Amino acid sequence: MAEIKLKVDGYRCERCNHEWIARGEGKPTVCPKCKSPYWNVPKKVK
Ligand SMILES: [Zn+2]
Repeated sequence: MAEIKLKVDGYRCERCNHEWIARGEGKPTVCPKCKSPYWNVPKKVK
């Protein structure tokens, strides 16, 4: 049995840096950890 690398789609929350594997179709609406709907919106830097 050979070892292989599986490539999966994942996301990282811009708010809490939580990383998770995508499930289903489309982008998740909220971060599963901090529940932020702005998980994919980078923090504004002044
Ligand atoms: Zn988060």
